[in-house]
Amino acid sequence: MSYRPDRELPPTAGLPLAMGDLRARPGKRLTDAAAALLDVPATQLECSGTASLIVSLLALKELAPNRQEVVMPAYTCPLVPMAVRKAGLIPRLCDLAPGQFDMDSERLDAACGDATLAVLPTHLAGRIADVATSVAIARRAGAFVIEDAAQALGARHDGKSIGMLGHAGFFSLAAGKGLSIYEGGLLVASDPDLRARLARVSAEHVPRRPLWELRRGIELAGYAALYRPRGLRWAYGDPLRRALRRGDLVAAAGEDFGPDIPFHRVGRWRERVGATAIDRLPGFLRTTARQAMRRLPRLQAIEGLHVFSDRPGDEGTWPYFLIAMPDEATRDAALSRLWHAGLGVGRLFIHALPDYAYLGAMKGDDDVANARDFAACTLTVSNSPWIDDGTFEHICAVLEALVVRSRA
Ligand SMILES: *Cc1c(COP(=O)(O)O)cnc(C)c1O
Repeated sequence: MSYRPDRELPPTAGLPLAMGDLRARPGKRLTDAAAALLDVPATQLECSGTASLIVSLLALKELAPNRQEVVMPAYTCPLVPMAVRKAGLIPRLCDLAPGQFDMDSERLDAACGDATLAVLPTHLAGRIADVATSVAIARRAGAFVIEDAAQALGARHDGKSIGMLGHAGFFSLAAGKGLSIYEGGLLVASDPDLRARLARVSAEHVPRRPLWELRRGIELAGYAALYRPRGLRWAYGDPLRRALRRGDLVAAAGEDFGPDIPFHRVGRWRERVGATAIDRLPGFLRTTARQAMRRLPRLQAIEGLHVFSDRPGDEGTWPYFLIAMPDEATRDAALSRLWHAGLGVGRLFIHALPDYAYLGAMKGDDDVANARDFAACTLTVSNSPWIDDGTFEHICAVLEALVVRSRA
């Protein structure tokens, strides 16, 4: 399999940077521009979504020093339990509701108690999680709610930015996740006292690391130059195809995280690049939402395939379509045709959290059957504007033929 397409479509619709963004001059702050975009009082910039979660956990720990556990979906980014441990706390897994990315509410209720510091409802693929249930259960247990909104910058529920439905929330500015400064994160909180605490904890705990910032600056310039269908072929597609040939799916999905989580201040230059690019984000989110609304019916018409979409009150974002296939064999057959082909088809997280060897044992890891099912049956189809109608139709036709065959 030495197939190599001449164009590589990105797996998610990230906002492309313009070269002019890199020449950004001092002006408005990224934090202020993001607050205006989200209609929130303030945002706080950290060096990643993961670092934002660490800072929020350190702050909440001050408020409830006897509580040690952080409850999260058993299917989420492996960086999440790593962040919990880095904050000196204990990850506790909660299985998903069958066929959903939300946590199962009965299991969540059973997992929460006197030891629970926080619950992490998680918005995936721009789709909005059921935060209200987490808030009700956490409140009974005396715990906090931190929304993991890493994949959903700009999404709203009942007109309100996600991240503001619980106590705190964070967005990722990593490569490919909507707006990017290569690695970054934005923290929000509804309560002014908690916002002040988050700012103080960050000032106290997050060090300057000039070499890390230099590296991120170079990576950001590379990202600006290569995040387009020709550049992505060798920056993203070729390493992906090599990992697939080795059978290393965790590396193919970019989840081969090392044990050290970078934790440092974001420098002024990267912040300015983000502050310049963010002006184009509302238009980009509108364009991708319109494209999604046009394409969703085609996917939804394929009987036997479930496409996650908005529920009443939701205004999600559309980086990619999250799709559940009828079974693992059909999903794998689709990926064997599409994943290496540069078409923007791929997978979200490869495993349920207990199945990443590098994470080791975690509380609740014995009851994750629905999370494993979700990992086994889902795939993603990019909603990048670079995916033209013909390419999208080709992807749909492949999925349709396989689903039809699975029913025969
Ligand atoms: C990417 C991601 C994170 C981590 O964000 P980084 O900015 O990469 O550190 C956390 N949670 C979810 C659901 C993610 O997709």
